[in-house]
Amino acid sequence: MNYSRSSALFKQAEQVIPGGVNSPVRAFKGVGGTPIFVKEAKGAYLYDEDGNRLIDYINSWGPMILGHAYQPVVDAVVEKAKKGTSFGMPTEIETQIAELAVSMVPNIDKIRFVNSGTEACMSAVRLARGFTKKDKIIKFAGCYHGHSDSFLIQAGSGASTFGTPNSPGVTQGTAKDTLLARYNDIDNVKQLMEANKNEIACVIIEPVAGNMGCVPPKEGFLQTLRTLCDAHNILLIFDEVMTGFRLAKGGAQALYNVNADIVCFGKVIGGGLPVGAFAARNEIMNHLAPLGPVYQAGTLSGNPLAMAAGLAMLTNLNNDAEVFNRLAEKTEYLHNGIAKVLEMNNIVHTINRVGSMISVHFDKTPVVDFDTAAKGNNETFKKFFHGLLNEGIYIAPSAFETWFITDALTYKDLDDTINAINKVAKIL
Ligand code: PMP
Repeated sequence: MNYSRSSALFKQAEQVIPGGVNSPVRAFKGVGGTPIFVKEAKGAYLYDEDGNRLIDYINSWGPMILGHAYQPVVDAVVEKAKKGTSFGMPTEIETQIAELAVSMVPNIDKIRFVNSGTEACMSAVRLARGFTKKDKIIKFAGCYHGHSDSFLIQAGSGASTFGTPNSPGVTQGTAKDTLLARYNDIDNVKQLMEANKNEIACVIIEPVAGNMGCVPPKEGFLQTLRTLCDAHNILLIFDEVMTGFRLAKGGAQALYNVNADIVCFGKVIGGGLPVGAFAARNEIMNHLAPLGPVYQAGTLSGNPLAMAAGLAMLTNLNNDAEVFNRLAEKTEYLHNGIAKVLEMNNIVHTINRVGSMISVHFDKTPVVDFDTAAKGNNETFKKFFHGLLNEGIYIAPSAFETWFITDALTYKDLDDTINAINKVAKIL
């Protein structure tokens, strides 16, 4: 395939945008080469500036669960736009989407809309600190909760008590309040809680991790986390920015039957517009300004276009009783097909899958946490990525990402993908 116009556009962008991109993961740094510039997208396909058609397995990193340019969402946005694009005043549609979200998600009474997943997680942690009057948080290595300072902490020595900033600009003062735990390692969490008694405000977790590939929680892990949080008076925050309105109507809380204290949303909840949200029971949410003392605000929060897109998306997901089963079936079909061709070609691999999230790792060790995710062979991944791109299949340009399956994918698209992987496997 020819990507010459994308390459030229990237060079031009590099002159005026740092690294040519407005979010680093788009830059193909992990896999080499230059990013594809999208012209438009419809259903399961991207059309790039060189006229190539690509089957899309990223789907804007999750939001386009029903496919690109999904007609009810497009219509809702167009109609709203004609009536003004922002007021900074309350609108009825904010209550409508809030009512719908509260009816779909277990264990929440109130929800506040923000503009991104980062904002949702950042605000959720502030609320947890304000509510519990404690400062420290536990996060898991390999989980991503946006680019707010408290979350940019990586596991230096695995179970070390205090984190180290992995981005210059994050102060030691901030880093010391973020404790790191190993995903799926409940003993590690217990140790941290024992060593920091009465100091931990919350545990924040991706209930299915999607930022180190797809890493499911081990059986009982989330349940035990819930029990430990209760025992230590710690709030449990589920970051459902990826899993919310994707794994089930009620997200991971519903899928695993575990209640979180605060839930964060992003991606699907905005139907592709910049939206995030956080939600909890009244007891917690009523601590938020203007009801309570914990401050949080946003000029464009609850923006009418974003609310229209989100409401159309959630309404369609809510009314389609079969959508989550369909998504899971398509993903399982893809899983089986990929496993079969990789085995046929003797490629060492592990595939992880939950609902419509799936990832392929080039190592045979089960991927259960960041360390095992990091074991995957990156050279093989690079060849895999570029091989698939050449076949018109677009997966994330990094081994540490989940593929997102959209309902717009047909079984023919899935077969084409499996056949392409069979071809690419020969050169791995
Ligand atoms: N939490 C999770 C689980 C995410 O995957 C992401 C983004 N990929 C975020 C938070 C941050 O969301 P945003 O990029 O919208 O700020």
